[in-house]
Amino acid sequence: MAKLHYIYSTMGAGKTLNLIQTAFNYEERGMQTLLLTTAIDDRYGKGKITSRLGVSRDAHVFSPDQDLYSDHLVPAAQAGFACVLIDEGQFMSRRNVEDLARAVDTLNLPAMVWGLRTDFLGNPFEGSAALFALADELREMRTLCHCGKKATMVLRSDADGNAVSEGPQVQIGGNDSYTPVCRKHWAQSIAQSRAKST
Ligand SMILES: [Zn+2]
Repeated sequence: MAKLHYIYSTMGAGKTLNLIQTAFNYEERGMQTLLLTTAIDDRYGKGKITSRLGVSRDAHVFSPDQDLYSDHLVPAAQAGFACVLIDEGQFMSRRNVEDLARAVDTLNLPAMVWGLRTDFLGNPFEGSAALFALADELREMRTLCHCGKKATMVLRSDADGNAVSEGPQVQIGGNDSYTPVCRKHWAQSIAQSRAKST
C-alpha cells in the first residue's frame, strides 16, 4: 500500500539534495519518478529543483489553487511512475496536500514531500501544517545550531546580519539570509531584535 511521507527540517539540512539523491536511487533501479515543486519558489527559474551544492533537476511546477490530482497525479500513475517527489512542500496549499493524499490512497501512488517545519517566526506554513496532519510517515532531517544542539528553528537576518522579528512569511530573493538554530538561540535573537526596534 502506498504511503505519503513528509520529510521535514529547518533550513540548511540538505532536503533538496536528499530529494535529488532519492530520484537517482529510483532511476538506478530502472524506475521513473515525477519531480514537482511549488510555483512560489522561483529562485532558480520555474521548473527547477536546485540544491545549495549546485546539483539541479528539471521539475514540473504547480500552484496552490491547481488541481494537482487531475493535472499531474493521474497522468503520473497512468504513465507508471514509481513515486512522486515534491520539493518546497511548505508552500503547498491544504488543497494540494489533500489531492496528494487522495492520489496515494486511490491510485496507489507513493509520494515523498520535503519541506520546512516552521517559518522564521516559529509559525507553521499552510503546507507544513497540512502535511503534518495528513502524512502517513514523518521523518526529520537533522542539522545543528552553532551551539551543537539540534537546530529546529530558522533565523532570518537582514543584509547587516541583524535578526528580523517581523515581516511576511515568504520572501524569496532579497538580501536576507537564513540560519538554522536551536529554539533557545532563536528565542534570544528574536527577543534582542524586538528590544532594538522599540
Ligand atoms: Zn543553539
